[in-house]
Amino acid sequence: MNIHEYQAKQVLREFGVPVPRGEPAFSVDEAEAAAKKLGGPVWVVKAQIHAGGRGKAGGVKVVKSIDDVKKEAKRLLGSTLVTHQTGPAGKEVNRLYIEEGAAIDREFYLSLLVDRESSRVAFVVSTEGGMNIEEVAAETPEKILTFSVDPVANICPFHVRKVAKALGLPEAQPKQLSALLTNLYRAFTERDMSLLEINPLILTKSGDLICLDAKVSFDDNALFRHPESLKLRDETEEDPKEIEASKYDLNYITLDGSIGCMVNGAGLAMATMDIIKLYGEAPANFLDVGGGATKEKVAAAFKIITADPNVKGILVNIFGGIMRCDVIAEGVVAAVREVGLEVPLVVRLEGTNVELGRKILSDSGLDVVPAMDLDDAAQKIVKAVKGAH
Ligand code: ADP
Ligand code: MG
Repeated sequence: MNIHEYQAKQVLREFGVPVPRGEPAFSVDEAEAAAKKLGGPVWVVKAQIHAGGRGKAGGVKVVKSIDDVKKEAKRLLGSTLVTHQTGPAGKEVNRLYIEEGAAIDREFYLSLLVDRESSRVAFVVSTEGGMNIEEVAAETPEKILTFSVDPVANICPFHVRKVAKALGLPEAQPKQLSALLTNLYRAFTERDMSLLEINPLILTKSGDLICLDAKVSFDDNALFRHPESLKLRDETEEDPKEIEASKYDLNYITLDGSIGCMVNGAGLAMATMDIIKLYGEAPANFLDVGGGATKEKVAAAFKIITADPNVKGILVNIFGGIMRCDVIAEGVVAAVREVGLEVPLVVRLEGTNVELGRKILSDSGLDVVPAMDLDDAAQKIVKAVKGAH
């Protein structure tokens, strides 16, 4: 789960990490009030969307008067920001963060993430702050320092020396740097983050280290023990189809192909996606309805797929083990009756009560193309979709 920059900074503040003073604003009036409260003389108006690259796209503006804060707030609120991380459709700006301006001497990059190879939390540090770190990694990998932290020993003085050396920080910084690394590590582990990215971390003209940007992702699997994190969720930033799917406990992820898939079991879902690709089309989603799905759950899944305008055909591929084929068939029929069916539908059922399932589908009078096995099913739906292009 991702959160906004201003929320991430509030979390960091609670752990004693230095961030500039700032206030969120949902309207021009609130932006003006925030600017007055902060006092100036320099303010930064920052669009709050779940994507980086805002600066280059005009979503971060440094201004020197309250009038300009209002002007930028008016321009940004309700506008759509397209950055290299949003995709071409962009994201609508509904929240702003009004922050005090910092006097930047140097910008660094610093992030923490879970390193699966070492099964530890790793730090990524670079002198190339404010840049796209993927580019730095590709072009000048020697400018990136990475190390992982032993969870028992925690942040040690040698980590601090390593980072200080990599960033070329003056001798006066070790105390601040040590506190910064320790507190970031504590925030990461105590709040079960999966990513904490500070880009840029800055050295101010007066010699202080401050986190000027913050991106936090929480580990979804640990959210159950963090109600305080769940409160920070902004559903308007998430895919509505995925939110709807999570209400029914469906494992659903939007993809960019044209064939909607309804499958049970992650393994079968993967195989289904692979075979669709093999025959030259791409899946519009990953969807695992689970082992013990009910008719209602199947109907909900079907509705989510049909509501997606990118879906040009649907492939239902179910193995009835715990799940019975007649339940699937009833769910599909109920959903089609309710929302209609405007694209080709191929159904491949196998397993418990398969005959009854097929009978329910054929008796329904719906335009369902039956398939005998996975290969047959994939070929049929790809052919149907290609025919429609
Ligand atoms: P993004 O990564 O989405 O572009 P950032 O928060 O990193 O957004 O801001 C982009 C740039 O704007 C920063 O690299 C920094 O140079 C400048 N900036 C951001 N916040 C401030 C601030 N409070 N004071 C001064 N400059 C800032
Ligand atoms: Mg940034």
